[in-house]
Amino acid sequence: MRGRYLDKKIAIAIDGPSASGKTTAAKLLAKRLGYRYLDTGLLYRALAWKVMKEKIDPLKEDEVSRLCRLKPVRLEESDHRYRIRIEGVDVTEELKTPELSKVSSLISKYKAVRESLIQLQREVGKEAGVILVGRDIGTQILPDAPVKFFMDASIEVRGKRRYEELVNRGFKSELAETIREMSQRDQQDRDRAISPMQAAPDSVYLDTSGDSLEVVVEKMLAEVNRQIS
Ligand code: C5P
Repeated sequence: MRGRYLDKKIAIAIDGPSASGKTTAAKLLAKRLGYRYLDTGLLYRALAWKVMKEKIDPLKEDEVSRLCRLKPVRLEESDHRYRIRIEGVDVTEELKTPELSKVSSLISKYKAVRESLIQLQREVGKEAGVILVGRDIGTQILPDAPVKFFMDASIEVRGKRRYEELVNRGFKSELAETIREMSQRDQQDRDRAISPMQAAPDSVYLDTSGDSLEVVVEKMLAEVNRQIS
């Protein structure tokens, strides 16, 4: 039976800490719904990429802010997702490195960094049938999104996921170190003054520690259907 969600296209916000399964779930959910999805972490990573390329010290807020005010990040729709361009160069596949994880989290607390990306994200969020994934989508970027999820999992489960992902992509890493770095980044994202990572009060909390991705996505589809019917 066709779900009602197929008839009415909305914006869906998904937030949560790293390796909570949000991007993988968004990808699958987008496929099931015929939606597009944007992983907004890539936007912060793209700015971090540019900061590193220009050899700017990420701790120097003034210099990072000057660069961000030029709004170098562009989005390009492709299939069911978005690709990221910086000054004409497609950097999408270069962004998921441990170094850019660190630098993106460091610079994402700066006001100018966040402001330079708001409009871009809201424009995407205005489109019909879109899923935005990040840390502050339900609270700041799309506070009126009709369906919001906050995904989480235990630190052990998330650490193992991230560790396996890194090893599969050819990065040398150790489980204990991966967990340590991830906890530090989560704390930084949670504790920052501007747009901290937070569950929106009207979001549905999903713990993915024990469930398979299929089960999680089924729960999400049921929620989408419930909200819009
Ligand atoms: O999701 P991902 O791990 O790629 O995000 C990288 C970093 O970008 C996060 O640690 C966080 O500091 C920042 N970020 C953010 N707000 C978002 C998405 C990501 O501050 N909506």
